[in-house]
Amino acid sequence: MRTIAILGSTGSIGRQTLEVCAEHPDLFEVYAITANRSADLLIQQARQFKPEVVVIADETYYQQVKDALADLPIKVWAGADALCQVVTAEPIDIVVTAMVGFAGLRPTVEAIKAHKVLALANKETLVVAGQLIMKMCDEYKVPILPVDSEHSAIFQCLENNPIDKLIITASGGPFRTFTMDQMRDVTAAQALKHPNWDMGAKITIDSASMMNKGFEVIEARWLFGMNADQIEVAVHPQSIVHSMVQFADGAVKAQLGCPDMRVPIAYALSYPDRMPSQINAKLRIEDYAHLTFERPDLERFPNLRLAFDALSQGGDRTCVLNAANEVTNEAFRRGQCKFLQMAEVNEKTLAAMPFVAQPSLDDYFAIDAVARVKAKELLGL
Ligand code: NDP
Repeated sequence: MRTIAILGSTGSIGRQTLEVCAEHPDLFEVYAITANRSADLLIQQARQFKPEVVVIADETYYQQVKDALADLPIKVWAGADALCQVVTAEPIDIVVTAMVGFAGLRPTVEAIKAHKVLALANKETLVVAGQLIMKMCDEYKVPILPVDSEHSAIFQCLENNPIDKLIITASGGPFRTFTMDQMRDVTAAQALKHPNWDMGAKITIDSASMMNKGFEVIEARWLFGMNADQIEVAVHPQSIVHSMVQFADGAVKAQLGCPDMRVPIAYALSYPDRMPSQINAKLRIEDYAHLTFERPDLERFPNLRLAFDALSQGGDRTCVLNAANEVTNEAFRRGQCKFLQMAEVNEKTLAAMPFVAQPSLDDYFAIDAVARVKAKELLGL
């Protein structure tokens, strides 16, 4: 029996993690679940899974959650500090970081210090502070099991042989074939219609702008210890090959499957075993007569170029890029910024911020805050 805490249980990854736990009640016990503001769903999940603790990050919902669970022996906590505290609870074996954005960094750090195995979905943690997080994981002997489908694919392909490169696949998003002119006036509603994956709003917009793929390159750099020039992106609109590893002898291993996040989630939770599943989608290879691969277009999708550049420059660059992107992504969703403006402002924010070569954890918080102000200023907000 493994005891699980899910940070962000009300989101897309969080809900699917609970589905995996529900399919295997003999293997997983849900100890803690958390949300930001989705109080009703959190209450419903708490009544179904009966965790020890629930945390609602936005304290204005505390009383609602507390009252609704008063008849059950469940502890109800509130606030950002409670997220950091809950992950340290002694019985927890695995912390699933399914929160979105920079907010996931601090609880992830606390989970590492408490020696919890990480099932990492919150890629922003590695985008912001990959070097520091990997150093901490090493120091505290904490394994990170990737939940992101591409990184799970790579993880499943690895063997103890020298690797030449990682080939990360990308669906290309809803605007893969659009010209710059066509992309100029696309709306958030259009961008939120991902062709293959049903995900949270922020990552869906990042997929449409290919910022998500850029972040995955950065995530892969840290998870697998590769240099930027050993990581390649291949646009693969069918999303069946989830990523590939090329070994020194030229052999390439790929991991295939239907686009179903429950597969990598389940693998992270059950690693090194695989669990049989009735709910995970099963691939019928004859349904996919044409699997295609093409080079990404960095002119039309400059966010991907920004990510590679930021990774090569190192220091605080990927932290600044993440902060700017959280601002521009949200502004686009609110109709306060155009689609192509997101990458423009991300680039201008990077240019406006001084380079910090060796940021500490505190520095990352300060840099994130300043970069957000700068990006908002550039957007005129
Ligand atoms: P969602 O937006 O669907 O869910 C985010 C979760 O985080 C919700 O539970 C939300 O609570 C909670 N949350 C948001 N902000 C805060 C905050 N400030 N403090 C505490 N909790 C917060 O996102 P996804 O599930 O799509 O993505 C989660 C992470 O996983 C992201 O980092 C994403 O990049 C990564 N990922 C997602 C994939 C997917 O298929 N969805 C695939 C691979 C990686 P509430 O419901 O109350 O808002």
